[in-house]
Amino acid sequence: MTKYRNFPMVPRVVFGQGCFKQLGEILLPKRRSSEVPFIFLVDDVFEGHILVNSIPLLFNDQIIFISAEEEPKTHQVDALVAQIKNSYSELPSGIIGIGGGTLLDLAKATAIMLTNAGSASEYQGWDLVKKPAIYHVGIPTISGTGSEVSRTTVLLGPEKKLGINSDFTPFDQVILDPDLTQGVSKKQWFYTGMDCYIHCVESLNGTYLNAFSQSYGEKSLELCKEVYLDALSPEDSRDKLMMASWHGGMSIAYSQVGVAHALSYGLSYLLGVKHGIGNCLVFQHLEEFYPEGVALFDQMRKKHQIELPKGICANLSESEFDTMIKVAMSLEPLWENAVGKEWRKTITPQKLKSIYEKI
Ligand code: NAD
Ligand code: ZN
Repeated sequence: MTKYRNFPMVPRVVFGQGCFKQLGEILLPKRRSSEVPFIFLVDDVFEGHILVNSIPLLFNDQIIFISAEEEPKTHQVDALVAQIKNSYSELPSGIIGIGGGTLLDLAKATAIMLTNAGSASEYQGWDLVKKPAIYHVGIPTISGTGSEVSRTTVLLGPEKKLGINSDFTPFDQVILDPDLTQGVSKKQWFYTGMDCYIHCVESLNGTYLNAFSQSYGEKSLELCKEVYLDALSPEDSRDKLMMASWHGGMSIAYSQVGVAHALSYGLSYLLGVKHGIGNCLVFQHLEEFYPEGVALFDQMRKKHQIELPKGICANLSESEFDTMIKVAMSLEPLWENAVGKEWRKTITPQKLKSIYEKI
């Protein structure tokens, strides 16, 4: 008998322009007592920003500003957990992440590691988390990664870049307020939005595809096309990209990503290239795997006059190429989804090197 996976989903979500204002009333019943605070992990791009004044702080609540300059790391999560445990005699009432994929993933990982012993690096993988996380809320301020809805938190560890994939990872509550994405730069809007677009292309063209993933993937792709190719009003565009991200995340929940993500993880591991731009750098050269997807990507890139950097891999040594290739090839489910069970016959180190050399 086929054994189907039984996934948790985000149980509560609010959507709408300005709905961030409801955060206070949403948190109130979740506060365990006046002594037991909420900890807000906030992207430091918002330091001094009007958004911070709207965070409903009470009693001992604390805001911790964190830079999204670098992607989340396991030791960073460990340090945050130690800091929170040292500051209070009890576990917090909850963790609220406000920012992009970086802050959302940090919030999920911190909520998990407050109740699970050891280092976050011990939980990178599938279903290694033993105890439920504390209450955690995700509030995206840029759309695309799908982290707000996903069952993973992607961390760079001492040995690998890999998610903590578990039933305890998804948020207990998500607040989708498209107004929060207003300050995002055009380039970043493109890169993180293309993460969503690439989730759709990889899911819809993968061997793992099923009606569940397809239904979300097709809707997300349609929304991405509207946002990046049609002339929408700014409000409409922000609303639709936020829902595209949600549906894109739902689509890969029941399938997998593919070639661009596998290669992009290698770039990120070796060179620290961030996820959104890394995916774009790889995806532009994947016409062999995703001909229609790459053609449309080029159209969107040109329409928004985005020039991708060149020569990223120009001066790498053989051993550096080998490191990236090793990371990329270790992501077996991604290749199996993209190419099929026999993927090792065509996906060779030479093949991957020839793609990296173009970047
Ligand atoms: P990010 O969180 O790193 O943010 C990108 C940049 O945008 C940062 O400089 C940030 O400060 C800025 N920014 C965010 N919101 C802003 C706003 N409203 N105004 C102005 N600037 C703003 O980028 P991202 O692309 O959202 O996330 C990338 C991360 O997400 C990676 O670490 C990746 O591994 C992770 N990811 C996770 C999942 C998952 O399912 N957990 C899926 C895909 C990607
Ligand atoms: Zn992605």
